Amino acid sequence: MRPEDILVRTPAGVCCKIGGFHIDPTRPVDKAVITHGHSDHARAGHGAVLGTQETLDLMRLRYGENFAASTQAIRYGETVTLGGARVTFHPAGHVLGSAQIAIEANGLRVVASGDYKNIADPTCAAFELVQCNIFVTEATFGLPIFRHGDPRAEIAKLLHSVALFPDRAHLVGAYPLGKAQRVMAMIREAGYDRPIYVHGAIEKIARYYESRGIDLGRVELARATKKADLAGTITLCPPGTLKDLWSRRFPDPVTCFASGWMRVRARARQRLVELPLVISDHADWDGLTATIAATGASDIWVTHGQEEALVHWSMARGLQARPLDIVGYGDEDEAEGVTENYGDV
Ligand SMILES: [Zn+2]
Ligand SMILES: [Zn+2]
Repeated sequence: MRPEDILVRTPAGVCCKIGGFHIDPTRPVDKAVITHGHSDHARAGHGAVLGTQETLDLMRLRYGENFAASTQAIRYGETVTLGGARVTFHPAGHVLGSAQIAIEANGLRVVASGDYKNIADPTCAAFELVQCNIFVTEATFGLPIFRHGDPRAEIAKLLHSVALFPDRAHLVGAYPLGKAQRVMAMIREAGYDRPIYVHGAIEKIARYYESRGIDLGRVELARATKKADLAGTITLCPPGTLKDLWSRRFPDPVTCFASGWMRVRARARQRLVELPLVISDHADWDGLTATIAATGASDIWVTHGQEEALVHWSMARGLQARPLDIVGYGDEDEAEGVTENYGDV
């Protein structure tokens, strides 16, 4: 049995032939197994969709009730048989409901990890290491320059700035699904108990997170608040709205952006970000390499991001490695504007 007998790359994405399904397909397919709710991984229009309850709910929230012909929810640790494969979901630590998919067939185990991070996040289950023969990994921050550091230090920077400028609003660009809720939860962990203001795209998902038992404290819509009342406050908004008309309702805003890309000063400058916050929902270089090594896999497939360095690193360690060159996965922080359609903002 070769790895290719379990998983192959097709135009629609990674396909498990023996199980009769695709993982995070970028085109409509009969049977899709979805790792998490970000729009590049979780698309509408498939036949049957298997995912965690949270991923299915987030897809429903974005696409409406009829986003797939049928759905099946699966819990972490649960195993289902699909065709000739046994499929088990494990936490990926990326966003609420995110999962790695372990596929077992004929004595081989493949783990497709989707997007993942191996550090603590108060808004989702912690990444679980799964031993496997073949590990399919992302490489969003797959270069040695990407070391995210401690996100709590970034939150402390934000709160320090808020204390320093009581007459200015702090406008924090944060991806609406996952990052925004994580930043809110971390602000609460740091002891900040005043209301946090949000853009409508973030509010809708924050309410869903709260319905799943994740406490975000008092969350208010910025658009329902008078300009003068926003002085000295924190507002979270999609990165693309930081510099558009929407931001004009804020008094003398300090522009902040929570993203792993903020490690690159030129990017922060380019986006006119005054206070860059290095907070990422993807593993950094150390996280990627440590995880690859710990899985015990001898074969590493790299799906998207900065594939080359990670492939090179794996091969230098005597592992087999290849880039999958899948077209259609992006990086949520790089997306411009309100790319996720969550309705009225
Ligand atoms: Zn993602
Ligand atoms: Zn991704």
